[in-house]
Amino acid sequence: MDIIKASGLTHDYITYDEDERPISVRHALENVDLAIEEGQFVAILGHNGSGKSTFAKHINALLLPTAGTVTVGGMDIADEANLWDIRQLAGMVFQNPDNQIIATVVEEDVAFGPENMGVPTKELEKRVAEALAAVGMTAFAKESPNKLSGGQKQRIAIAGALAMRPRCIVFDESTAMLDPSGRKEVVATMHRLNREEGITVLLITHYMDEAVGADRVIVLDGGHIAMDGTPKQVFARTEELLNLGMQLPKVTQLANALTAEGLPLPAPILTEEELIEELCRLRSKI
Ligand code: ADP
Ligand code: MG
Repeated sequence: MDIIKASGLTHDYITYDEDERPISVRHALENVDLAIEEGQFVAILGHNGSGKSTFAKHINALLLPTAGTVTVGGMDIADEANLWDIRQLAGMVFQNPDNQIIATVVEEDVAFGPENMGVPTKELEKRVAEALAAVGMTAFAKESPNKLSGGQKQRIAIAGALAMRPRCIVFDESTAMLDPSGRKEVVATMHRLNREEGITVLLITHYMDEAVGADRVIVLDGGHIAMDGTPKQVFARTEELLNLGMQLPKVTQLANALTAEGLPLPAPILTEEELIEELCRLRSKI
Protein backbone atom coordinates (compact mmCIF):
# COMPACT_ATOMS: atom_id res chain seq x y z
CA MET A 1 0.00 0.00 0.00
CA ASP A 2 1.14 3.55 -0.72
CA ILE A 3 1.41 5.46 2.53
CA ILE A 4 2.25 8.70 0.70
CA LYS A 5 1.03 9.60 -2.73
CA ALA A 6 1.60 12.90 -4.51
CA SER A 7 -0.16 13.42 -7.84
CA GLY A 8 0.68 16.44 -9.97
CA LEU A 9 1.96 18.17 -6.83
CA THR A 10 2.87 21.79 -7.48
CA HIS A 11 3.83 24.27 -4.80
CA ASP A 12 4.40 27.97 -5.42
CA TYR A 13 5.64 30.35 -2.76
CA ILE A 14 4.02 33.68 -3.47
CA THR A 15 5.25 36.92 -1.92
CA TYR A 16 2.86 39.84 -1.61
CA ASP A 17 3.41 43.58 -1.26
CA GLU A 18 1.70 45.60 1.50
CA ASP A 19 -1.45 45.89 -0.63
CA GLU A 20 -1.52 42.10 -0.86
CA ARG A 21 -0.64 42.13 -4.55
CA PRO A 22 1.58 39.22 -5.56
CA ILE A 23 5.08 40.47 -6.35
CA SER A 24 6.95 37.24 -6.92
CA VAL A 25 6.28 33.57 -7.41
CA ARG A 26 8.75 30.84 -6.63
CA HIS A 27 7.94 27.43 -8.14
CA ALA A 28 9.32 25.09 -5.47
CA LEU A 29 7.66 21.89 -6.75
CA GLU A 30 6.27 21.37 -10.24
CA ASN A 31 3.92 18.57 -11.15
CA VAL A 32 5.52 15.91 -8.96
CA ASP A 33 4.10 12.38 -9.07
CA LEU A 34 5.48 10.22 -6.32
CA ALA A 35 4.19 7.21 -4.41
CA ILE A 36 5.90 5.78 -1.36
CA GLU A 37 5.11 2.29 -0.22
CA GLU A 38 4.46 1.61 3.44
CA GLY A 39 7.48 0.11 5.23
CA GLN A 40 10.09 1.49 2.83
CA PHE A 41 13.21 3.42 3.80
CA VAL A 42 13.46 6.22 1.26
CA ALA A 43 16.30 8.73 1.00
CA ILE A 44 15.61 12.07 -0.68
CA LEU A 45 18.61 13.92 -2.06
CA GLY A 46 19.05 17.16 -3.96
CA HIS A 47 21.09 20.33 -3.66
CA ASN A 48 19.87 23.37 -1.69
CA GLY A 49 16.60 24.76 -2.97
CA SER A 50 15.63 21.65 -4.94
CA GLY A 51 12.32 21.36 -3.06
CA LYS A 52 13.05 18.68 -0.44
CA SER A 53 11.70 20.56 2.59
CA THR A 54 8.72 21.83 0.63
CA PHE A 55 7.84 18.23 -0.21
CA ALA A 56 8.37 17.12 3.40
CA LYS A 57 6.08 19.83 4.77
CA HIS A 58 3.19 18.58 2.63
CA ILE A 59 3.39 15.17 4.28
CA ASN A 60 2.49 16.75 7.59
CA ALA A 61 0.07 19.25 6.04
CA LEU A 62 2.29 22.12 7.18
CA LEU A 63 1.98 23.25 3.56
CA LEU A 64 -0.87 22.60 1.13
CA PRO A 65 -0.54 22.08 -2.63
CA THR A 66 -0.94 25.00 -5.00
CA ALA A 67 -2.11 22.37 -7.48
CA GLY A 68 -2.40 18.59 -7.43
CA THR A 69 -3.06 16.35 -4.45
CA VAL A 70 -1.19 14.61 -1.65
CA THR A 71 -2.62 11.75 0.34
CA VAL A 72 -1.10 10.36 3.52
CA GLY A 73 -2.44 6.99 4.62
CA GLY A 74 -5.15 7.49 1.99
CA MET A 75 -6.24 10.82 3.53
CA ASP A 76 -6.23 14.00 1.45
CA ILE A 77 -4.02 16.58 3.20
CA ALA A 78 -6.14 19.43 1.82
CA ASP A 79 -9.18 18.24 3.79
CA GLU A 80 -9.00 19.99 7.14
CA ALA A 81 -10.99 17.22 8.79
CA ASN A 82 -7.96 14.92 8.27
CA LEU A 83 -5.38 17.23 9.83
CA TRP A 84 -5.28 15.60 13.26
CA ASP A 85 -5.09 12.05 11.89
CA ILE A 86 -2.39 13.00 9.38
CA ARG A 87 -0.17 14.64 12.00
CA GLN A 88 -0.58 11.57 14.18
CA LEU A 89 0.25 9.19 11.35
CA ALA A 90 3.27 11.07 9.99
CA GLY A 91 5.86 12.42 12.42
CA MET A 92 8.54 14.95 11.55
CA VAL A 93 12.03 15.44 12.93
CA PHE A 94 13.79 18.62 11.91
CA GLN A 95 17.37 19.83 11.71
CA ASN A 96 18.05 21.61 14.95
CA PRO A 97 17.61 19.46 18.06
CA ASP A 98 17.53 22.53 20.32
CA ASN A 99 14.42 23.89 18.61
CA GLN A 100 12.51 20.66 19.08
CA ILE A 101 12.95 20.06 22.77
CA ILE A 102 10.53 21.96 24.96
CA ALA A 103 10.44 20.38 28.41
CA THR A 104 13.15 20.49 31.07
CA VAL A 105 13.04 16.75 31.77
CA VAL A 106 13.56 14.17 29.02
CA GLU A 107 10.49 12.02 29.80
CA GLU A 108 8.22 15.06 29.95
CA ASP A 109 9.48 16.16 26.58
CA VAL A 110 8.74 12.76 25.04
CA ALA A 111 5.27 12.79 26.63
CA PHE A 112 4.40 16.23 25.25
CA GLY A 113 2.77 15.18 21.94
CA PRO A 114 0.57 12.30 23.16
CA GLU A 115 -0.34 14.23 26.33
CA ASN A 116 -1.74 17.03 24.16
CA MET A 117 -3.64 14.38 22.25
CA GLY A 118 -5.35 13.39 25.49
CA VAL A 119 -3.67 10.00 25.93
CA PRO A 120 -4.51 8.73 29.45
CA THR A 121 -1.72 8.66 32.07
CA LYS A 122 -1.16 4.88 32.20
CA GLU A 123 -0.97 4.61 28.42
CA LEU A 124 1.21 7.73 28.32
CA GLU A 125 3.78 6.20 30.69
CA LYS A 126 3.92 3.06 28.59
CA ARG A 127 4.41 5.01 25.37
CA VAL A 128 7.17 7.18 26.84
CA ALA A 129 9.01 4.15 28.21
CA GLU A 130 8.73 2.33 24.87
CA ALA A 131 9.79 5.35 22.84
CA LEU A 132 12.84 5.96 25.04
CA ALA A 133 13.79 2.28 24.84
CA ALA A 134 13.43 2.34 21.04
CA VAL A 135 16.04 5.11 20.75
CA GLY A 136 18.27 3.66 23.49
CA MET A 137 17.74 6.58 25.90
CA THR A 138 15.93 4.92 28.82
CA ALA A 139 18.75 5.75 31.22
CA PHE A 140 18.24 9.47 30.56
CA ALA A 141 14.49 9.64 31.31
CA LYS A 142 14.91 11.86 34.39
CA GLU A 143 17.76 13.99 33.05
CA SER A 144 17.66 17.51 31.73
CA PRO A 145 17.90 17.60 27.91
CA ASN A 146 20.45 20.45 28.26
CA LYS A 147 23.09 18.00 29.40
CA LEU A 148 22.79 15.77 26.35
CA SER A 149 24.96 15.68 23.24
CA GLY A 150 23.49 16.71 19.86
CA GLY A 151 23.00 13.07 18.83
CA GLN A 152 21.28 12.23 22.11
CA LYS A 153 18.99 15.27 21.77
CA GLN A 154 17.98 14.17 18.29
CA ARG A 155 17.20 10.71 19.67
CA ILE A 156 14.93 12.39 22.23
CA ALA A 157 13.24 14.32 19.41
CA ILE A 158 12.74 10.98 17.61
CA ALA A 159 11.32 9.45 20.80
CA GLY A 160 8.88 12.38 20.97
CA ALA A 161 7.74 11.59 17.44
CA LEU A 162 7.54 7.86 18.23
CA ALA A 163 5.35 8.42 21.30
CA MET A 164 2.66 9.56 18.85
CA ARG A 165 2.77 6.02 17.37
CA PRO A 166 3.33 7.21 13.80
CA ARG A 167 3.41 4.89 10.78
CA CYS A 168 5.84 7.17 9.02
CA ILE A 169 8.60 9.57 10.12
CA VAL A 170 10.11 12.27 7.93
CA PHE A 171 13.62 13.34 8.87
CA ASP A 172 14.43 16.71 7.29
CA GLU A 173 18.22 17.00 7.47
CA SER A 174 17.98 15.74 11.05
CA THR A 175 21.64 14.79 11.12
CA ALA A 176 23.00 18.01 9.59
CA MET A 177 24.00 19.62 12.89
CA LEU A 178 25.53 16.50 14.44
CA ASP A 179 29.12 15.33 14.64
CA PRO A 180 30.01 12.06 12.86
CA SER A 181 29.30 9.87 15.88
CA GLY A 182 25.97 11.62 16.54
CA ARG A 183 25.04 11.11 12.89
CA LYS A 184 25.82 7.41 13.12
CA GLU A 185 23.71 7.04 16.27
CA VAL A 186 20.72 8.73 14.71
CA VAL A 187 20.92 6.94 11.34
CA ALA A 188 21.23 3.58 13.12
CA THR A 189 18.11 4.47 15.12
CA MET A 190 16.19 5.27 11.92
CA HIS A 191 17.14 1.91 10.41
CA ARG A 192 16.17 0.00 13.52
CA LEU A 193 12.73 1.65 13.66
CA ASN A 194 12.23 0.82 10.00
CA ARG A 195 13.37 -2.78 10.35
CA GLU A 196 11.86 -3.69 13.71
CA GLU A 197 8.77 -1.50 13.94
CA GLY A 198 7.97 -1.35 10.23
CA ILE A 199 7.91 2.46 10.31
CA THR A 200 8.19 4.08 6.89
CA VAL A 201 11.22 6.39 6.89
CA LEU A 202 11.78 9.38 4.63
CA LEU A 203 15.31 10.56 5.11
CA ILE A 204 16.15 13.92 3.59
CA THR A 205 19.89 14.37 3.69
CA HIS A 206 22.85 15.90 1.96
CA TYR A 207 25.15 13.15 3.19
CA MET A 208 25.41 10.65 0.35
CA ASP A 209 26.66 7.88 2.64
CA GLU A 210 23.37 8.05 4.59
CA ALA A 211 21.43 7.25 1.42
CA VAL A 212 23.42 4.08 0.72
CA GLY A 213 21.42 1.97 3.19
CA ALA A 214 18.01 3.06 1.85
CA ASP A 215 15.63 0.84 -0.14
CA ARG A 216 15.08 3.66 -2.59
CA VAL A 217 16.81 6.94 -3.45
CA ILE A 218 14.99 9.90 -4.97
CA VAL A 219 16.92 12.88 -6.31
CA LEU A 220 15.14 16.21 -6.63
CA ASP A 221 16.29 19.03 -8.86
CA GLY A 222 14.53 22.35 -9.38
CA GLY A 223 11.24 21.01 -8.03
CA HIS A 224 11.28 17.91 -10.27
CA ILE A 225 12.23 14.29 -9.69
CA ALA A 226 15.56 13.86 -11.46
CA MET A 227 16.28 10.27 -10.41
CA ASP A 228 14.42 7.51 -8.63
CA GLY A 229 15.81 4.04 -8.04
CA THR A 230 17.79 1.75 -5.78
CA PRO A 231 21.06 3.14 -4.32
CA LYS A 232 22.95 0.98 -6.85
CA GLN A 233 20.97 2.40 -9.75
CA VAL A 234 21.25 6.01 -8.64
CA PHE A 235 24.92 6.01 -7.61
CA ALA A 236 25.91 4.37 -10.90
CA ARG A 237 24.90 7.62 -12.64
CA THR A 238 28.07 9.48 -11.65
CA GLU A 239 28.10 12.14 -14.37
CA GLU A 240 24.48 13.14 -13.88
CA LEU A 241 24.86 13.35 -10.10
CA LEU A 242 27.90 15.59 -10.44
CA ASN A 243 25.98 17.76 -12.90
CA LEU A 244 23.18 18.09 -10.33
CA GLY A 245 25.71 19.45 -7.85
CA MET A 246 26.00 16.26 -5.83
CA GLN A 247 28.85 13.98 -4.92
CA LEU A 248 29.21 10.24 -4.69
CA PRO A 249 29.56 8.47 -1.33
CA LYS A 250 33.20 8.55 -0.14
CA VAL A 251 33.71 4.81 -0.60
CA THR A 252 32.28 4.99 -4.12
CA GLN A 253 34.71 7.81 -4.98
CA LEU A 254 37.60 5.74 -3.68
CA ALA A 255 36.49 2.64 -5.59
CA ASN A 256 36.12 4.68 -8.79
CA ALA A 257 39.64 6.09 -8.31
CA LEU A 258 40.99 2.54 -7.90
CA THR A 259 39.15 1.49 -11.07
CA ALA A 260 40.73 4.43 -12.91
CA GLU A 261 44.10 3.04 -11.78
CA GLY A 262 43.27 -0.22 -13.50
CA LEU A 263 41.73 -2.34 -10.72
CA PRO A 264 38.74 -4.19 -12.24
CA LEU A 265 36.10 -3.40 -9.60
CA PRO A 266 32.36 -3.60 -10.25
CA ALA A 267 30.57 -0.23 -10.10
CA PRO A 268 29.14 1.28 -8.05
CA ILE A 269 30.64 0.12 -4.77
CA LEU A 270 28.65 1.65 -1.93
CA THR A 271 30.04 0.34 1.35
CA GLU A 272 33.41 -0.35 2.95
CA GLU A 273 32.43 -4.02 3.34
CA GLU A 274 31.80 -4.34 -0.39
CA LEU A 275 35.11 -2.68 -1.22
CA ILE A 276 37.04 -4.95 1.13
CA GLU A 277 35.29 -8.01 -0.28
CA GLU A 278 36.06 -7.03 -3.87
CA LEU A 279 39.71 -6.24 -3.07
CA CYS A 280 40.10 -9.62 -1.33
CA ARG A 281 38.55 -11.32 -4.35
CA LEU A 282 41.10 -9.61 -6.62
CA ARG A 283 43.98 -10.56 -4.31
CA SER A 284 42.91 -14.22 -4.36
CA LYS A 285 43.35 -14.17 -8.13
CA ILE A 286 46.96 -12.98 -8.03
P1 ADP B 1 15.49 22.32 -0.04
O1 ADP B 1 14.87 21.82 1.22
O2 ADP B 1 15.71 21.24 -1.06
O3 ADP B 1 16.74 23.09 0.20
P2 ADP B 1 13.17 24.07 -0.18
O4 ADP B 1 11.98 23.19 -0.34
O5 ADP B 1 13.45 24.66 1.14
O6 ADP B 1 14.46 23.31 -0.75
O7 ADP B 1 13.04 25.28 -1.22
C1 ADP B 1 12.63 25.13 -2.56
C2 ADP B 1 12.56 26.50 -3.22
O8 ADP B 1 11.56 27.28 -2.62
C3 ADP B 1 13.85 27.31 -3.09
O9 ADP B 1 14.03 28.04 -4.26
C4 ADP B 1 13.57 28.23 -1.92
O10 ADP B 1 14.29 29.42 -2.04
C5 ADP B 1 12.08 28.48 -2.06
N1 ADP B 1 11.45 28.69 -0.74
C6 ADP B 1 11.47 27.86 0.31
N2 ADP B 1 10.77 28.35 1.35
C7 ADP B 1 10.26 29.55 0.92
C8 ADP B 1 9.44 30.55 1.52
N3 ADP B 1 8.96 30.41 2.77
N4 ADP B 1 9.14 31.65 0.78
C9 ADP B 1 9.59 31.79 -0.49
N5 ADP B 1 10.37 30.89 -1.12
C10 ADP B 1 10.71 29.78 -0.43
MG1 MG C 1 15.53 21.86 3.21
